[in-house]
Amino acid sequence: MYKTVIFDLHNKPGEELKETLEFLYKRYTLALIASDKVLGEIKKNEFQRYFELITEKIYENNSDNLPEMISQLKLTPQQVMIVSDSLENINLAISKKIKAVAYGPLIDVKETLIEIDTKNIAYISPNTFRCTQCGQCCRAIVKVSETDIERIEKSGLKRKAFLDYDPMEENPTEKNCLKMENKVCTFLRRKGDRYYCSIYDHRPNTCRKFPFFKKNLELMDCQPFVLRQQEPLENILPDENKKNKQENISTKIKRLFS
Ligand code: SF4
Ligand code: SF4
Repeated sequence: MYKTVIFDLHNKPGEELKETLEFLYKRYTLALIASDKVLGEIKKNEFQRYFELITEKIYENNSDNLPEMISQLKLTPQQVMIVSDSLENINLAISKKIKAVAYGPLIDVKETLIEIDTKNIAYISPNTFRCTQCGQCCRAIVKVSETDIERIEKSGLKRKAFLDYDPMEENPTEKNCLKMENKVCTFLRRKGDRYYCSIYDHRPNTCRKFPFFKKNLELMDCQPFVLRQQEPLENILPDENKKNKQENISTKIKRLFS
């Protein structure tokens, strides 16, 4: 069974890269071989966070690069899969009996992966799963128990501040859900393209278990598709990195004039 995906990118990555990376990151260790130009693009877009290994040594004509990379990773060809935008390298990988997929939109990558490895690619597993901090699951209504409420209160908040009626019930009588603002959990925050829970250590049980609620559940992905279709989260939540930067500038200006 392969466990590492090597991205081999020569050309400027397309819009779809993030989606493809998010999908693969949840399942595998990702390594990257890229040209200088592509590396710059990946760093600029902060995509490098998905890669555990980025080669510093970039070849212009890198057909010998793949076997070297595999040996660097101390893996056998059976443990590796290549996603490449170079037909030459795809053919090279196949000739060396390494699984290879052409880089492209997620739907194409997914289809090829499912074709070549139905057992391992189709589902996410609690043993290997890594959250990409996309925040999509925090757009769902979260019911809370009394134990959950008491745990959240230990963070210093009063239940009045974070509880609400279930908007899906016709005549709700008790506030047993987390409050939402703009259809997003009141506790979700954003730093750049990462979303995080501001009460992480005190979060409700449902959030702790997500997305693996039942044993042996066959899950294609953790992102609730319906919720993803709503307004992009970056339009709803302010970027705290920018806020902090502005606050620092204001503090400096105040200091200058005090
Ligand atoms: S949907 Fe939730 S669990 Fe899945 S990657 Fe996004 S934040 Fe993580
Ligand atoms: S409590 Fe935290 S983890 Fe749970 S939905 Fe809200 S922000 Fe997400």
